[in-house]
Formats: sequence, structure tokens, C-alpha cells
Amino acid sequence: MTARLIDGTAAAKKIRAGLKEKVAALTASGRRAPCLAVILVGDDPASLVYVRHKEKSCDDVGLTSKTFHLRAATPESEVLALITKLNQDPEIDGILPQLPMPGHIDRVKVVSEINPAKDVDGLSFYNQGRLAWNLPALRPCTPAGVMELLKHEGIDCSGKKAVVIGRSVLVGLPVQLLLTHANATVTCVHSKTKNPEQIAKDADILVAAAGSKHLVTKEWIKPGAIVIDVGIHKNDDGKLTGDVRPDDALSLASLFTPVPGGVGPMTIAMLMVNCVQAYENRG
Ligand code: NAD
Repeated sequence: MTARLIDGTAAAKKIRAGLKEKVAALTASGRRAPCLAVILVGDDPASLVYVRHKEKSCDDVGLTSKTFHLRAATPESEVLALITKLNQDPEIDGILPQLPMPGHIDRVKVVSEINPAKDVDGLSFYNQGRLAWNLPALRPCTPAGVMELLKHEGIDCSGKKAVVIGRSVLVGLPVQLLLTHANATVTCVHSKTKNPEQIAKDADILVAAAGSKHLVTKEWIKPGAIVIDVGIHKNDDGKLTGDVRPDDALSLASLFTPVPGGVGPMTIAMLMVNCVQAYENRG
């Protein structure tokens, strides 16, 4: 079987086009546009690229973006004080701390400081709690992007066996919850799982979010499976690649998300969706 590629760039473009119309309608009466505040601490090259993509995407959709670029040695207390200020600022709808932050900054404290109504990456205890309860909330962007891609492809998860590789709060755990709520039968494999490839090979839907380049090879993929690759890594030639060995997925899977051009663009599209949602929720 030769897999068909899921075009995340096209799916994200469609979402952005819909949002652009929505934002134009919401602001037609002169109301200010939704505004996203991004907090970047330090000069991690990958983070700088991601923040630029987010700014460009905001521009594209008609949102305002404000980037607060702090030096790497900024004390944790200053980052928390900035978040408090942004929480109180009526002109700010969404607050996104670009993770990872330097080691002296506790990401739990950072995420907990954000007003859940402005938590556009859906990582706060409140929003993750509502996700666990399957109640409406701002959902974590990458997991929401994975689910949107499945929806875009018309895939009904109900009754399917899904295996998620990874259990991080950012990706793996919320993907497991979202797939469970979509009535898939979900198994998680992680770094301590014995024979993970045997478990993965049983999956109708395989989501790879291990952060381990080309971990998933043909031994992990059931013929005809849907393979979603969340990982982002650089090859020796500087090109991006994922957690899945592309040739193996292409030869075995029915559907496969490429890296780049799969989950990545959807993550940013869902951030835009969340920012507009936060703006609308504020009335
Ligand atoms: P993480 O390091 O926090 O978590 C990785 C998880 O994978 C852990 O739960 C670990 O137990 C598991 N794992 C590690 N090695 C494993 C192995 N050999 N077998 C089975 N499980 C294993 O990473 P994260 O933040 O969840 O991100 C995962 C990947 O997704 C990274 O490559 C990251 O860059 C990428 N990512 C992509 C996007 C996007 O928009 N495409 C967004 C966020 C993260």
C-alpha cells in the first residue's frame, strides 16, 4: 500500500481563511481585533522560528500580536509579573509562553499564573481538568490540531484502536484524552513500555509524539494504519523530519502526515482558533 499524505498545510489554510472572515465580521463595527501576547525568554533558535510563524499567522488572520522577548537570564519572578500584568490587560485575549523556557523558570508556575480564560495553549490545570471531563474549554493546540486533521480526512475514531506514543502534558496525554472522548480505544506507550512496537502494530490510528527521530519504523506500523507524526527534528541536511521513518509509513500506512506540512501548521492554526475563541468568550 502507498499511503496518501494528509496535507496539514492545506487544512490549516482553510481554517485560517474561515477565521479571517470571522474576525472581519467581529471587528466590522469598530471593535478592536483579538490580540495574542507571546512571551519568549532567551534566544533558542527553534523558538525564535516558531514565534515568527505565530506572528505571521496572526497577521494573516487579522489578529494583533505582541511579542515580549526577554533575555535568557530573566528571573522567574519577572516572567510571572509580566503574566500578571497581561492577565489584567483588557486589550490582551491570549497569553502564550513559548516553551521550553530556560531551566531556572518553572513551567508549572508559569502556566498556573495565566488566567485560564487567556490560556490559549490550554495547559492550565483548569483547562486540562475540563478536557479530562470532556467539557468545553481552550484545548491544547497540537492535540486539537491532530483531531482536526482526522476530522478533515473524515475519519470516524469511534471503535478504532488508537495507540499514542508519548505521555507529555503538552501532547501525548491530551491526545489520549481527545481520542478517548472521540470513542477510540486508546493505549499509550512511553519510554518505559516493553515491546512498544508490538503494541503500536495493533493500532488503526498511530500517533507518534515521542520526540525521538525516526523511532517508528515498519515494525511499528500495521498495514493500512493512519499514522500521525507529531515529532519535529532536523536531519543532517537541516531539513525537518519527524518521529516516523517516512519511507516505512509511506509503504505501509493508508494515511500519513508529512513533516513538515502535517501537524505543525495545524498547531498554529489551532492557536489562532483559540485566540479568537478567548476573545469571543470575553464578550
Ligand atoms: P516530551 O519529551 O515532553 O515527551 C515525549 C514522550 O515520549 C514522553 O512521554 C516519553 O515517555 C515518550 N517517549 C520517549 N522516548 C520513547 C520511546 N523510545 N518509546 C516510547 N515512548 C517514548 O515531548 P513533547 O513535548 O510531547 O513533544 C514530542 C515531540 O513532538 C517532539 O519532537 C516535539 O518537538 C514535537 N512537537 C511538535 C509540535 C508540532 O506542532 N508539530 C508541537 C509540540 C511538540
